[in-house]
Amino acid sequence: VVPTTLGDPSGPSKGRVTLVHLYPREMSIYGDLGNTRCLEARLRWHGYEPNVVSHNPGDELPDDIHLVVGGGGQDSGQARVEADLERIGPRLVSMAEDGVPMLMICGMYQLFGKAFRTVEGETLPGLGILDVTTQGNAKRMIGPVVLSTEFGDVVGYENHSGSTVLGDGQRAFGDVRSGFGNNGEDGKEGARTHNVIGSYLHGPILPSNPQLADFLIAVAAERATGRPFEPGEIDDHLADEARARQVARLTKKN
Ligand code: GLN
Repeated sequence: VVPTTLGDPSGPSKGRVTLVHLYPREMSIYGDLGNTRCLEARLRWHGYEPNVVSHNPGDELPDDIHLVVGGGGQDSGQARVEADLERIGPRLVSMAEDGVPMLMICGMYQLFGKAFRTVEGETLPGLGILDVTTQGNAKRMIGPVVLSTEFGDVVGYENHSGSTVLGDGQRAFGDVRSGFGNNGEDGKEGARTHNVIGSYLHGPILPSNPQLADFLIAVAAERATGRPFEPGEIDDHLADEARARQVARLTKKN
């Protein structure tokens, strides 16, 4: 579903915003590439010039980065990006502490945590930006999800074997209204530290939840331009209706 824009994206650019997509080849499943497409399109519709950079293992990161996204992947994909992630880790850690907005889904969420122990018993160390630890299981957690978050209702789809536990004091991204979330037990989903959000929600999450996309964009645009975010006018009624339907369908009391 492609929302139509009411704004005039052909006007003068309000500024150039650099978005880095980490490991699009290895870590981008269940439609996660749609998050990058969504951010690129919405930046344009809001009147900004998106500069989308794919970061592959061995690449150098650009000097000025305003937004970072990463997606899900198989355990094997996670193992393939591990060495590069360790190499660029110190830069990501300092950008996270400085407030750069980042969205990490599923496999990359796990690697932004402290560690991921796979079901085979292999330990993949994480960056520790989010105080979470993940243990792989034989049983997968699969299905549609509804969350309550500071961005309102958020909907998506999860498919993971990893069971994630928040460290003491680690804020969650949302409370589970329907679905498994981090582990199927404590009612929590994802994690947020500074402007770094980790979540299991594919879908992809951003086209389904434009309010979340615009939070990331607003912070990125302010950092890029030094001026307050100047939103354009975007017609999100299709996404808003679809989200309301998923919330109603999954949370109705029998
Ligand atoms: N391999 C991880 C897990 O199953 C991540 C899966 C994913 O990114 N969807 O927990």
